[in-house]
Amino acid sequence: MINITNLHKSYKMGANSLHVLKGINFEVAEGELVSIMGSSGSGKSTLLNILGMLDEADEGSYILDGVPIKGLSEKQAAKYRNKFLGFIFQSFNLISYKSALDNVALPLYYQGLPRGERMDKAMSYLEKVGLAKWSGHLPNELSGGQKQRVAIARALASDPKVLLADEPTGALDTKTSYEVMDLIQQINDEGRTILVVTHENDIAQMTKRIVNLRDGLIIEDTLVSQIRASENV
Ligand code: ADP
Ligand code: MG
Repeated sequence: MINITNLHKSYKMGANSLHVLKGINFEVAEGELVSIMGSSGSGKSTLLNILGMLDEADEGSYILDGVPIKGLSEKQAAKYRNKFLGFIFQSFNLISYKSALDNVALPLYYQGLPRGERMDKAMSYLEKVGLAKWSGHLPNELSGGQKQRVAIARALASDPKVLLADEPTGALDTKTSYEVMDLIQQINDEGRTILVVTHENDIAQMTKRIVNLRDGLIIEDTLVSQIRASENV
Protein backbone atom coordinates (compact mmCIF):
# COMPACT_ATOMS: atom_id res chain seq x y z
CA MET A 1 0.00 0.00 0.00
CA ILE A 2 2.80 2.40 1.04
CA ASN A 3 6.35 2.16 -0.31
CA ILE A 4 8.97 4.72 0.58
CA THR A 5 12.61 4.56 -0.41
CA ASN A 6 15.51 6.73 0.72
CA LEU A 7 13.30 9.61 1.79
CA HIS A 8 15.08 12.83 2.74
CA LYS A 9 13.65 16.07 4.07
CA SER A 10 15.33 19.26 5.23
CA TYR A 11 13.84 22.51 6.43
CA LYS A 12 15.61 25.60 5.22
CA MET A 13 15.71 28.57 7.53
CA GLY A 14 17.70 31.44 6.07
CA ALA A 15 21.25 30.26 5.58
CA ASN A 16 20.68 27.23 7.78
CA SER A 17 19.15 23.92 6.95
CA LEU A 18 17.83 21.27 9.32
CA HIS A 19 18.12 17.75 7.96
CA VAL A 20 15.11 15.99 9.54
CA LEU A 21 14.65 12.78 7.52
CA LYS A 22 17.94 11.20 6.45
CA GLY A 23 17.02 8.26 4.27
CA ILE A 24 13.83 6.57 5.42
CA ASN A 25 12.85 3.22 3.93
CA PHE A 26 9.70 1.35 4.75
CA GLU A 27 6.73 -0.49 3.43
CA VAL A 28 3.24 -0.79 4.80
CA ALA A 29 0.97 -3.50 3.47
CA GLU A 30 -2.79 -3.16 3.16
CA GLY A 31 -4.54 -3.78 6.47
CA GLU A 32 -1.59 -3.01 8.75
CA LEU A 33 -1.84 -0.98 11.98
CA VAL A 34 1.54 0.70 12.41
CA SER A 35 2.82 3.21 14.92
CA ILE A 36 5.62 5.65 14.24
CA MET A 37 7.39 6.28 17.52
CA GLY A 38 10.11 8.69 18.51
CA SER A 39 10.86 11.54 20.86
CA SER A 40 9.64 15.05 20.23
CA GLY A 41 11.41 16.60 17.23
CA SER A 42 12.47 13.26 15.77
CA GLY A 43 10.58 13.93 12.53
CA LYS A 44 7.40 11.89 13.05
CA SER A 45 5.01 14.61 11.87
CA THR A 46 7.32 15.48 8.98
CA LEU A 47 7.19 11.86 7.84
CA LEU A 48 3.42 11.59 8.31
CA ASN A 49 2.83 14.84 6.43
CA ILE A 50 4.83 13.50 3.49
CA LEU A 51 2.90 10.21 3.61
CA GLY A 52 -0.29 12.28 3.72
CA MET A 53 0.80 14.30 0.68
CA LEU A 54 0.57 17.46 2.74
CA ASP A 55 4.29 18.00 2.21
CA GLU A 56 6.90 16.76 -0.24
CA ALA A 57 10.22 15.02 0.31
CA ASP A 58 13.41 16.53 -1.09
CA GLU A 59 14.69 13.19 -2.22
CA GLY A 60 13.54 9.59 -2.47
CA SER A 61 10.43 7.94 -3.77
CA TYR A 62 6.95 7.47 -2.38
CA ILE A 63 4.58 5.06 -4.02
CA LEU A 64 1.02 4.96 -2.70
CA ASP A 65 -1.16 2.09 -3.89
CA GLY A 66 1.10 1.62 -6.90
CA VAL A 67 1.15 5.29 -7.91
CA PRO A 68 4.41 7.31 -7.71
CA ILE A 69 3.42 10.53 -5.95
CA LYS A 70 6.14 12.66 -7.50
CA GLY A 71 4.68 12.29 -10.97
CA LEU A 72 1.30 13.80 -10.05
CA SER A 73 0.26 17.34 -10.86
CA GLU A 74 -1.01 19.46 -7.98
CA LYS A 75 -4.60 18.91 -9.05
CA GLN A 76 -4.14 15.15 -9.43
CA ALA A 77 -2.42 15.05 -6.05
CA ALA A 78 -5.31 16.84 -4.31
CA LYS A 79 -7.81 14.45 -5.89
CA TYR A 80 -5.71 11.44 -4.95
CA ARG A 81 -5.26 12.67 -1.39
CA ASN A 82 -9.00 13.20 -0.89
CA LYS A 83 -9.78 9.78 -2.27
CA PHE A 84 -7.08 7.71 -0.57
CA LEU A 85 -6.19 9.40 2.71
CA GLY A 86 -7.97 10.29 5.92
CA PHE A 87 -6.44 12.41 8.68
CA ILE A 88 -6.78 12.56 12.44
CA PHE A 89 -4.96 15.20 14.49
CA GLN A 90 -4.08 15.73 18.14
CA SER A 91 -6.14 18.93 18.25
CA PHE A 92 -9.17 17.32 16.49
CA ASN A 93 -9.44 20.19 13.94
CA LEU A 94 -13.24 20.25 14.03
CA ILE A 95 -15.15 23.26 12.77
CA SER A 96 -16.34 24.97 15.93
CA TYR A 97 -19.61 26.43 14.59
CA LYS A 98 -20.76 23.20 12.93
CA SER A 99 -22.57 20.35 14.69
CA ALA A 100 -20.95 16.94 15.05
CA LEU A 101 -23.12 15.69 12.19
CA ASP A 102 -22.23 18.61 9.90
CA ASN A 103 -18.52 18.14 10.67
CA VAL A 104 -18.73 14.51 9.59
CA ALA A 105 -20.82 15.41 6.52
CA LEU A 106 -18.35 18.03 5.26
CA PRO A 107 -16.03 15.72 3.25
CA LEU A 108 -19.16 14.27 1.63
CA TYR A 109 -20.22 17.76 0.61
CA TYR A 110 -16.86 18.22 -1.11
CA GLN A 111 -17.40 14.89 -2.83
CA GLY A 112 -20.60 16.29 -4.28
CA LEU A 113 -23.06 13.98 -2.52
CA PRO A 114 -26.66 15.26 -2.34
CA ARG A 115 -27.70 16.57 1.07
CA GLY A 116 -29.99 13.69 2.09
CA GLU A 117 -27.42 11.09 1.23
CA ARG A 118 -24.61 12.91 3.02
CA MET A 119 -26.63 13.32 6.20
CA ASP A 120 -27.59 9.61 6.22
CA LYS A 121 -24.02 8.57 5.63
CA ALA A 122 -22.63 11.01 8.22
CA MET A 123 -25.14 9.71 10.75
CA SER A 124 -24.10 6.12 10.12
CA TYR A 125 -20.47 7.05 10.84
CA LEU A 126 -21.47 8.88 14.02
CA GLU A 127 -23.32 5.73 15.05
CA LYS A 128 -20.22 3.70 14.33
CA VAL A 129 -18.17 5.79 16.76
CA GLY A 130 -20.97 5.68 19.34
CA LEU A 131 -22.07 9.30 19.06
CA ALA A 132 -25.45 9.18 17.30
CA LYS A 133 -27.09 10.87 20.28
CA TRP A 134 -24.65 13.76 20.08
CA SER A 135 -25.15 14.55 16.39
CA GLY A 136 -26.65 17.99 17.01
CA HIS A 137 -24.01 19.13 19.48
CA LEU A 138 -21.26 21.63 18.74
CA PRO A 139 -17.64 20.57 19.34
CA ASN A 140 -17.36 22.68 22.51
CA GLU A 141 -20.29 20.75 24.00
CA LEU A 142 -18.33 17.51 23.67
CA SER A 143 -15.53 15.99 25.74
CA GLY A 144 -12.05 15.54 24.26
CA GLY A 145 -12.67 11.86 23.61
CA GLN A 146 -15.99 12.61 21.94
CA LYS A 147 -14.37 15.28 19.76
CA GLN A 148 -11.77 12.79 18.62
CA ARG A 149 -14.52 10.28 17.82
CA VAL A 150 -16.24 12.89 15.66
CA ALA A 151 -12.91 13.55 13.94
CA ILE A 152 -12.50 9.82 13.34
CA ALA A 153 -16.03 9.59 11.91
CA ARG A 154 -15.21 12.52 9.63
CA ALA A 155 -11.97 10.88 8.50
CA LEU A 156 -13.88 7.68 7.69
CA ALA A 157 -16.68 9.44 5.85
CA SER A 158 -14.72 9.66 2.61
CA ASP A 159 -13.86 5.94 2.92
CA PRO A 160 -10.07 6.39 2.70
CA LYS A 161 -7.76 3.45 2.03
CA VAL A 162 -5.28 4.75 4.59
CA LEU A 163 -5.92 6.58 7.83
CA LEU A 164 -3.10 8.78 9.15
CA ALA A 165 -3.27 9.85 12.79
CA ASP A 166 -0.79 12.35 14.26
CA GLU A 167 -0.73 11.97 18.07
CA PRO A 168 -4.47 11.16 18.12
CA THR A 169 -4.38 10.67 21.90
CA GLY A 170 -1.99 13.53 22.63
CA ALA A 171 -4.69 15.76 24.13
CA LEU A 172 -6.54 13.00 26.00
CA ASP A 173 -6.27 11.46 29.48
CA THR A 174 -5.06 7.88 29.78
CA LYS A 175 -8.44 6.17 29.97
CA THR A 176 -9.85 8.16 27.04
CA SER A 177 -6.65 7.52 25.08
CA TYR A 178 -7.16 3.78 25.42
CA GLU A 179 -10.80 4.11 24.35
CA VAL A 180 -9.78 6.02 21.23
CA MET A 181 -7.10 3.41 20.49
CA ASP A 182 -9.75 0.67 20.94
CA LEU A 183 -11.81 2.40 18.27
CA ILE A 184 -8.75 2.68 15.99
CA GLN A 185 -8.10 -1.06 16.50
CA GLN A 186 -11.72 -1.83 15.65
CA ILE A 187 -11.48 0.21 12.42
CA ASN A 188 -8.25 -1.64 11.56
CA ASP A 189 -9.96 -4.99 12.25
CA GLU A 190 -12.37 -4.07 9.47
CA GLY A 191 -9.40 -4.02 7.11
CA ARG A 192 -8.40 -0.39 6.96
CA THR A 193 -4.70 0.49 6.87
CA ILE A 194 -3.78 2.85 9.73
CA LEU A 195 -0.62 4.71 10.73
CA VAL A 196 -0.46 6.28 14.18
CA VAL A 197 2.23 8.74 15.20
CA THR A 198 2.88 8.78 18.94
CA HIS A 199 5.67 9.43 21.41
CA GLU A 200 3.98 7.21 24.01
CA ASN A 201 5.06 3.60 24.25
CA ASP A 202 1.80 2.30 25.73
CA ILE A 203 -0.12 3.77 22.79
CA ALA A 204 2.35 2.26 20.31
CA GLN A 205 1.90 -1.11 22.02
CA MET A 206 -1.78 -0.98 21.02
CA THR A 207 -0.78 -1.14 17.34
CA LYS A 208 0.60 -4.21 15.56
CA ARG A 209 3.96 -2.87 14.48
CA ILE A 210 6.25 -0.21 15.91
CA VAL A 211 8.58 1.83 13.72
CA ASN A 212 11.09 3.73 15.81
CA LEU A 213 12.51 6.97 14.50
CA ARG A 214 15.69 8.57 15.82
CA ASP A 215 17.93 11.26 14.37
CA GLY A 216 16.18 11.07 11.03
CA LEU A 217 16.49 7.31 10.59
CA ILE A 218 14.45 4.22 11.44
CA ILE A 219 16.40 2.48 14.19
CA GLU A 220 13.89 -0.26 14.85
CA ASP A 221 10.93 -1.81 13.06
CA THR A 222 9.26 -4.56 15.06
CA LEU A 223 6.02 -6.47 15.22
CA VAL A 224 4.32 -6.04 18.58
CA SER A 225 3.59 -9.79 18.65
CA GLN A 226 7.36 -10.39 18.50
CA ILE A 227 8.01 -7.95 21.34
CA ARG A 228 5.39 -9.78 23.43
CA ALA A 229 6.87 -13.18 22.57
CA SER A 230 10.38 -12.09 23.56
CA GLU A 231 9.09 -10.65 26.83
CA ASN A 232 7.40 -13.92 27.73
CA VAL A 233 10.42 -16.20 27.36
P1 ADP B 1 7.94 15.32 15.76
O1 ADP B 1 6.60 15.25 15.13
O2 ADP B 1 8.64 14.00 15.87
O3 ADP B 1 7.93 16.01 17.09
P2 ADP B 1 8.57 17.15 13.58
O4 ADP B 1 8.52 16.35 12.35
O5 ADP B 1 7.41 18.02 13.88
O6 ADP B 1 8.91 16.19 14.82
O7 ADP B 1 9.85 18.09 13.56
C1 ADP B 1 11.16 17.60 13.34
C2 ADP B 1 12.14 18.76 13.39
O8 ADP B 1 11.88 19.65 12.30
C3 ADP B 1 12.03 19.59 14.65
O9 ADP B 1 13.30 20.02 15.03
C4 ADP B 1 11.16 20.76 14.22
O10 ADP B 1 11.46 21.90 14.97
C5 ADP B 1 11.56 20.95 12.77
N1 ADP B 1 10.47 21.45 11.93
C6 ADP B 1 9.24 20.89 11.77
N2 ADP B 1 8.50 21.59 10.89
C7 ADP B 1 9.25 22.63 10.49
C8 ADP B 1 9.06 23.72 9.57
N3 ADP B 1 7.91 23.86 8.89
N4 ADP B 1 10.08 24.60 9.42
C9 ADP B 1 11.23 24.46 10.08
N5 ADP B 1 11.49 23.46 10.95
C10 ADP B 1 10.52 22.55 11.15
MG1 MG C 1 4.74 15.83 15.79
